[in-house]
Amino acid sequence: MKTLQVHIVTPDGPVFDGDVEMITTKAESGELGILPGHIPMVAPLQIGAVRLNKGTETEFVAVNGGFVEVQQEKVTILAQTAEKADSIDIARAEEAKKRAESRLQGSQDDVDFKRAQLALKRAMNRIDVYKHH
Ligand code: ATP
Repeated sequence: MKTLQVHIVTPDGPVFDGDVEMITTKAESGELGILPGHIPMVAPLQIGAVRLNKGTETEFVAVNGGFVEVQQEKVTILAQTAEKADSIDIARAEEAKKRAESRLQGSQDDVDFKRAQLALKRAMNRIDVYKHH
C-alpha cells in the first residue's frame, strides 16, 4: 500500500510525524480525504478532527484552524493548536465548554459572542477526538 508522509505542526512544535495511507481533514469547503497521488493544493481548515489511517490503525488529532498543504506524497498541516487524542485533557475541555456555553448565554456583544462560539467549537472538537483515544 502506498503511503503519504504527514506532518502536523503548531507554533509550539511538531505534534505528529508519520506515514499514513489516508488522511481526512475538515477543510473550510468540507470534508477532504487525501490519498497518495492527490494533486498539490493548499486549503484552509476548520476547527475539526484529522483522521490518520494506516492498515487497521486509525489515529485522531484535534486541530484548531490553519492550513493543509499537499505536495507530492507529503501532507503538512500548520495549525494554531493540535492535540493527539491521548494528550487531550478531558476535564480541561469540559470546563472550557461550560465556560463558553455560559458566555454565549450572557453575551450582549457580537465580538464576545463570536469568541465564545469559537471556544465552544474548540472544546467540543477536543471532547469528540478524546473519545477515540
Ligand atoms: P482553555 O480555555 O482550556 O485554555 P482554549 O481552547 O482557549 O482552551 P487554546 O487557546 O486553543 O485553548 O490552546 C492553548 C494551548 O493549550 C494549546 O497549546 C493547546 O494545545 C492546549 N490545550 C487547550 N485545551 C487543551 C486540552 N483540553 N487538552 C490538552 N491541551 C489543550
